[in-house]
Formats: sequence, C-alpha cells, structure tokens
Amino acid sequence: MRVVRLSHEGSPAYGLVEGESILPLAAAPWETAGEPKRTGAAVDRRSATLLVPVVPTKILCIGRNYRAHAAELGHEVPEKPLVFLKPASSLRPHKGTVLLPPESSRVDYEGELTVVIGERIRRASREEAARAVFGYTCALDITARDLQKTDGQWWRAKGFDTFCPLGPAVETDVDSSDLLVETFVDGAVRQSGRTSLMAFDVPTIVAWASHAMTLEPGDVILTGTPEGVAPLLPGQTVEVRIGGVGTLSVRVEKEA
Ligand code: ZN
Repeated sequence: MRVVRLSHEGSPAYGLVEGESILPLAAAPWETAGEPKRTGAAVDRRSATLLVPVVPTKILCIGRNYRAHAAELGHEVPEKPLVFLKPASSLRPHKGTVLLPPESSRVDYEGELTVVIGERIRRASREEAARAVFGYTCALDITARDLQKTDGQWWRAKGFDTFCPLGPAVETDVDSSDLLVETFVDGAVRQSGRTSLMAFDVPTIVAWASHAMTLEPGDVILTGTPEGVAPLLPGQTVEVRIGGVGTLSVRVEKEA
C-alpha cells in the first residue's frame, strides 16, 4: 500500500493512494490491525494538498553509509553506524521549498532512502527491527557543509528550517536491499547509487538506533547518501527518485 497525509476538510488525515484517488483514513494505518480503516471519502489526487507523510517523534540520520560518499568528503566508513538527529522543524512536504540560510555559503543536497517505523521497539534484534519497518519514503538530508566542518555539533548544519524535505508517500510493499537512489538537479542526474552498497543495511541501522532510544510508529531514519553531493543554488529544482518508492521534488530559494 501507498500511504500519504493530506489536508482533508481542514484537518490533517492519513490517506491511501488508489489510482487517481486518495482515500482518507480514520487513523494512522499502523494503529489498526489488518486493513486500514477508511472513512468512505475519496479525494482527487491532482487537487489534494499533500503534507509530510508521517509525524515523527524523532528524525534519525545515518552519516557516511556509502563508501564512495565518505571518500568524496575525505572520510572512511565508520566501524559503527554514525547517527545524528534533525529537528521536526526541518521537515517540508513534497513540492516544498528549501531555503538557503545567510549563515552558510555552501548548502548541499543529499538524496536518501528513508525508513518509516511502524511499531514501538526498544533494544531490538535485527529480525525484530526488520519486522518493525512499516515502509519507505524519500528524503533530502540538506546540509550546510561549511557549518558542518566549523560548528563541532551538527545541529545547525543539518537542522535549519526546511533542511528535511520528506515524501511524497510511504510505500509498504518494497524490498529495500537493492534499490536505485537517484538525485536530479534541474533534470540532470547528480547522484546514482544502489542501497546494496550501504555499509550498514536497514535492519542493522534500525536495531542499532533502538539500542539507544525507543523507536515509535512514524519515526523516520534517513539511511545515508551515495556519492555526488554538491552545492545548491537559488532557483534550482531538486528531485530524489527511488525505484518502487517514489519521487520527491522541491524548489530551492534564498532565505529572504
Ligand atoms: Zn545524509
């Protein structure tokens, strides 16, 4: 199934994508055992206002999870997953805008496969972690590369408002072990890597994170980016395409 969140009759609602329609749900799909609970309404997909598809209590990210990307920034792949957090205030939906803040002179795109958690887990095994994955979506881990080097902590470099576009939908029927992750800037391919090249796979990452903190339904984990990162310029359109998962598209503007 393909799950979105939309603005429906003035309130946010989860919805199932079926053909050209979105069927609003009465509850988050992971809250109802078996079939998601439909409201009976149907919304035309073309006129729907899509929101960020989940409401995470935390946004975890994995750094340096592809050897070629670690190497392009002069790093090795770490021995344990390198994890950092982004704030909820950095989230933006599909077709949103990334704002380049005046504090940075180099803001990069990083296209990433993103895990959506579907059940509460703590200190999970790899098998339990794999079972707790609800589905996958696309994200951009927007990064102020200059501040990442000079700040010490990455709270600003990874955390400015608009630095985590996420969506458009959560796809549940997908095997994440060998997906093609591509990033396009103004239609030209800039990143192209397969998830089979990740140093730490999805069950390992989810299990590892759950040993530090309880993962809740709707939490997301960005799994790292392939090589080919580069700075963004105002006026550009950035797209992340992941086979079987979807295409996330955003515009880039200078913060006024
Ligand atoms: Zn990243």
